[in-house]
Amino acid sequence: KVKPKAPKAEAKMLPEVKNIVAVASGKGGVGKSTVASNLAVALSNMGYKVGLLDADVYGPSIPKMFKTEDARPVLKKVDGKDKIVPVEKYGVKNLSIGYFVNPEDALVWRGAMATNALKQLISDGDWGELDYLLLDLPPGTSDIHLTAVQTISLAGAVVVSTPQDVALADARKGISMFTGEKINVPVLGLVENMAWFTPAELPENKYYIFGEGGCKKLAEELKVRLLGQIPIVQSIREGGDNGEPSALNPDSITGQAFAKLGQAVV
Ligand code: ADP
Repeated sequence: KVKPKAPKAEAKMLPEVKNIVAVASGKGGVGKSTVASNLAVALSNMGYKVGLLDADVYGPSIPKMFKTEDARPVLKKVDGKDKIVPVEKYGVKNLSIGYFVNPEDALVWRGAMATNALKQLISDGDWGELDYLLLDLPPGTSDIHLTAVQTISLAGAVVVSTPQDVALADARKGISMFTGEKINVPVLGLVENMAWFTPAELPENKYYIFGEGGCKKLAEELKVRLLGQIPIVQSIREGGDNGEPSALNPDSITGQAFAKLGQAVV
């Protein structure tokens, strides 16, 4: 269960948001944004009010994954203050730095700028009432997200990894970033992405391309939950590229995997 911590100053800025949950990874390319976007849709399918903040300021990919690249969030006065109205798609309210800058420009941001932009998207977003606000964090454990994570009152963190040794080593660092004394954010668990591959012509076979059982072992060792295992499926990649997350089809095998993940997170 996600239990919100006592509200800090920052949390009071979003009094209507029940749980802010970070989706993190130790390294890039493991499918963090794919998991974040599908988890958001899966939670929405379950009837929750969901927001998704693309905090990956160095490589924002949520606009593409939701096919909202052309959206331009508008401003709205709320209590005399300008608020940014999130883009709503598939039942999920999202905001991304990608709506405001060219992705190429985002790459050269300095740490403080990136952190401020992130804070602004959170505090100035007109998020309204939400059960879950997911933060798709940048990969890694840099100073930027240490600052971000420290200033935002997180209910918990979900860490995404592949079962490969190099990814697991970085996932371990990611987990210790959250559980470190200074931050102390509950780790809700690990998600093993790209867990195996099943060819269409051999539906009974599982090929463990990145190794077998790596996340289960790490979860046991670090005493965190293994929240779910997502196989390598072409339609997951296509869904990301086409802006139609697999979780939109809850009856498909991939949709079911993300639905299960949603149930494990709440
Ligand atoms: P990250 O956010 O960790 O950098 P992405 O979510 O952008 O990673 O995923 C990297 C690439 O891998 C994308 O092209 C994505 O579509 C693909 N991908 C992620 N997870 C899966 C999966 N389970 N099956 C197939 N392709 C996947």
